[in-house]
Amino acid sequence: MAKLGTNLDKAAELLRNDELVAIPTETVYGLAGNGLKSDTISKIYMVKNRPPGNPLILHIASVNQLESLVTKIPEAAIKLAEKFWPGPLTLVLPKNNVVPGIATAGLNTVAVRIPSHEMTLKLLSMLDFPLAAPSANLSNRVSPTTAEHVHFQIGKRIKYILDGGQCSKGIESTIIGFKDEIPIILRHGALSIDKIKQVLGKVLTKNDHNSILAPGMAPKHYSPKTRLIASDNIKRTITGLNGLDIVVLTLCPNNHNTLESEISKASLTSNGDLSEAAFNLYDKLFLLDKMNFDCIVAEYVPEVGIGISINDRLRRASN
Ligand code: AMP
Ligand code: MG
Repeated sequence: MAKLGTNLDKAAELLRNDELVAIPTETVYGLAGNGLKSDTISKIYMVKNRPPGNPLILHIASVNQLESLVTKIPEAAIKLAEKFWPGPLTLVLPKNNVVPGIATAGLNTVAVRIPSHEMTLKLLSMLDFPLAAPSANLSNRVSPTTAEHVHFQIGKRIKYILDGGQCSKGIESTIIGFKDEIPIILRHGALSIDKIKQVLGKVLTKNDHNSILAPGMAPKHYSPKTRLIASDNIKRTITGLNGLDIVVLTLCPNNHNTLESEISKASLTSNGDLSEAAFNLYDKLFLLDKMNFDCIVAEYVPEVGIGISINDRLRRASN
C-alpha cells in the first residue's frame, strides 16, 4: 500500500530506480516514471489500465531540457512557453530519438510541459530525466486532485505518493499542437482560451482543423462510477428521472432555487466563480460518487473562459 509523504529524496530515489511515484501538479496528480525508459513507461500504462494508443505528457524542469527532446520549436511555441511555463499548458512538438515510442503511442510528436507545483519542480530539478506522468487515476475515471484521491484509486498499485495538498487549478492542462507551425488547441484545460488569444491573437481548435492528430480524446472520460447526466436544463432532466435517488450539482447554491426541497443538492462554488468551480470539480465528483446516489445531474456552467474546459469534462463524464 502506498505511503503518503513529502520526502523528495525518497521520491527521487524511487524514480531513479525505475519505480513509479504519484506527484502533485497544479492541474491534477500525475503518475510519474522515467520518461526515457520504455519498461518504466509500460508500468504506467499497466497501473492505470491505460489503452496503449493514448500517449503521455513528459514533465520537465526547464526549457533547456525541451531542446533535448524535440527536433523543432515553432515561433508560436516559444512565445507560449515564455508566457505560460511553468504552468498548465502542454505543447505537442516533433520528437527526437531519445523519446521512446511507447511514451508517444508511436507518434512522431511528443507532449511536454513544465508544471508549476513547487514540490514537483524541485523534484524534477533533482533528476536528469523527464517524468512521463498521466493523471494518477484509473483510466477514464475521475482525475485526482488530492493525495487521498490517488490513494483511493491506485494506492494498492504504487509505493509512494508525494503529498502536495490540493491541486490549485484542479483540471488538466490545455494542450496545443502545431500544423505547419500553426498552433491548434487539442484539449481545453486549465489555461483558458482567452489567455492564449492574448498571446497569439486568433487560435484554432481541432474542430477548425480536423486533420491534426488528437489521440486519447475518448468521448467517455473523467467519469464517476455513479451515472452522471450533464444538462443545461436540470428541471427538465430530473422530471425524466422519477423514482431515482438523484443529486443535483450546480455552479452555485442560487441555482437550486427552483428545485423541490426534497431533492439532494450540491454546488461547485458559493458564488459562481469559474476558477473555484474548476478547483472543486473532481473533488466534488469523488465525494458524490461515494454517496451511492443512482444518478448525479450536473448543470453545465457558462461557456466562457475556464467554463469551456469544465463543460468539456462534464460532457465527457456523462457519455
Ligand atoms: P493526460 O491523460 O491528462 O496525461 O493527457 C495526455 C493527453 O495528451 C493524451 O490523452 C493526448 O490527448 C495528449 N497527447 C499526448 N501526446 C500527444 C501527441 N503526441 N499528439 C497529440 N496529443 C497528445
Ligand atoms: Mg487523464
